[in-house]
Amino acid sequence: MAHLLIVEDDELLRDGLSAQLSQAGHRTTTAEDGAVALALLASEAFDGVVLDLGLPKVDGLSVLRQLRQRTPALPVLILTARDGVEDRVEGLNAGADDYLTKPFNRDELLARLQALLRRASLPAFGAATPPDSATSLLRLDPLVPRAWLGDEVIDLTQREWALLDLLVRHSGQVVSREDVLAVWQSEPGESGGVASNALEVYVHRLRRKLAGSPLNIRNIRGLGYMLESGTT
Ligand code: CA
Repeated sequence: MAHLLIVEDDELLRDGLSAQLSQAGHRTTTAEDGAVALALLASEAFDGVVLDLGLPKVDGLSVLRQLRQRTPALPVLILTARDGVEDRVEGLNAGADDYLTKPFNRDELLARLQALLRRASLPAFGAATPPDSATSLLRLDPLVPRAWLGDEVIDLTQREWALLDLLVRHSGQVVSREDVLAVWQSEPGESGGVASNALEVYVHRLRRKLAGSPLNIRNIRGLGYMLESGTT
């Protein structure tokens, strides 16, 4: 059982989510705007947060940023509007662990939330692992698409660089295929329109370039990819 905070201004949705998550065995607390959410986060301990981005008083992204300063490891799933690609990318950059686009399937929400909670409680992926264990090995050149592993240079294409950057920033967390495609489409100079099956090709190439290092891109079936620093 986890104690979950549901932040959503749509009353029907808020009550629906609360009922569903209670039914799944969790304890829920609800907030109808960002100000109430921040007050609750300051006074109570939560195991996870479902956070709508479009909120009255204090918007979801501001809530997320403030929350991240105090509780960097608290799992947060954001809810975004259908066409809010920029919001979604901004949300992930601000430290969301996952997102769902409205309207979403309730079973999917539960599955993703459970996955976040599970990961948060697994020592291998949770607080016991420093979040920068992978990034400390790897350095991305901000100007040229390349990276260093120790003092070894890895040449990358722009897309490989963007993919690796996203994985490093969310190392130990699942990055969904949609996140990668959204970031690629927001890259300056990219024309977009990457077929989603091309993603596997890029992941495969990147894996080969990381071969021999302790870094591995794990395929999380049905969810996306995760950068791990393994022991193999
Ligand atoms: Ca809303």
